[in-house]
Amino acid sequence: MEKADILSMNKDEVCDFLTSLGEAKFRGKQVFKQLHFRKASSFDEMTDLSLSLREKLKETSGIFGVKPVEKYKSSLDSTIKYLFEIRNGYIIESVLMKYDYGYSVCVSTQAGCRMGCAFCASTIGGLERSLTAGEILSQVYEIERQENIRVGHVVMMGCGEPLDNFDSSVRFISLLSDPDGANISRRNITLSTCGLVDEIYRLKDLHLPITLAVSLHAPNNEIRQKIMPVARKYSYEDVIKAAADYAEGTKRRVTFEYALIKGVNDSEKAAYELAGRLKGVLGHVNLIPVNDVKERNFLRSSDTGVKKFSSILTAEGIENTVRRRLGSDINAACGQLRKRYKNNSEVKTL
Ligand code: SAH
Repeated sequence: MEKADILSMNKDEVCDFLTSLGEAKFRGKQVFKQLHFRKASSFDEMTDLSLSLREKLKETSGIFGVKPVEKYKSSLDSTIKYLFEIRNGYIIESVLMKYDYGYSVCVSTQAGCRMGCAFCASTIGGLERSLTAGEILSQVYEIERQENIRVGHVVMMGCGEPLDNFDSSVRFISLLSDPDGANISRRNITLSTCGLVDEIYRLKDLHLPITLAVSLHAPNNEIRQKIMPVARKYSYEDVIKAAADYAEGTKRRVTFEYALIKGVNDSEKAAYELAGRLKGVLGHVNLIPVNDVKERNFLRSSDTGVKKFSSILTAEGIENTVRRRLGSDINAACGQLRKRYKNNSEVKTL
């Protein structure tokens, strides 16, 4: 019989599982706390359970987390990047960033991705498989264990499209914010999507006070279609409307991500057009000088180009920030490191 994925279960499910093993229900809460509050990575660590119960759990279930493979420390800032292996041998990546408000982890939700954005390294080999909620969680827990820290913020901006793995992503958010578990505030969790409109509405209807980030990367559909295949499925207007409705419904400001790519989407005209599109929407723009992806021949806009773009948005009344490029020496952008690792080319372990 296949072992149950206990790390992906919510509290009620763990209690039901323990009951099905002939145990008292309160044992379920005890096991849940071990997994998500004490963050035990093996049943042997759960010393408040009897030896026989631990054996029973080992026989019937598994803690299917991620396994550390490599770790890279930036020499420019305190960013650390991890390569993890999941079941079936696939490789994913996660990033730890230190801000003045505390530690933030960027997690992957899928190994690979099928969205096909032209500037993104994660998508080059297509989708390998979606992660379970436990595998997404375990990236946070494993980093906390390794660094002996507590993480306060989580962004779902690693490999994969979270809304293409909807159920596991939502389950992950519930587990991560459980008061008997990691207890990370939902306000400190950001989910980033390339703009799957139907799923944005599904998410809105769940009324989770998380932050939604929408990868826009263009001022209109014509340019968006050139770099993001998803723009052929959902129109630009529908994406903006979904984001605006999400903001209205949750009263949470939406972040629009905009990676500036030289000669593609960084003209002054594009800045004015973008400003026009976003007027009146409860949100702000996060400008990201694109990380060069050699395979795709996309280059970052010049510093003056970025400044100009930002100042036009500001003058037009659109709030915006230019993202700091943390960990740029360790390929900390989406999917880059994993790709190099798979190609077996030179990656420096520090
Ligand atoms: N699939 C989701 C989340 C993962 S990507 C999404 O599309 O939002 C996280 C962010 O990194 C997205 O905004 C994505 O467009 C951006 N990104 C991908 N490749 C990049 C690159 N080479 N340079 C800068 N940002 C990149």
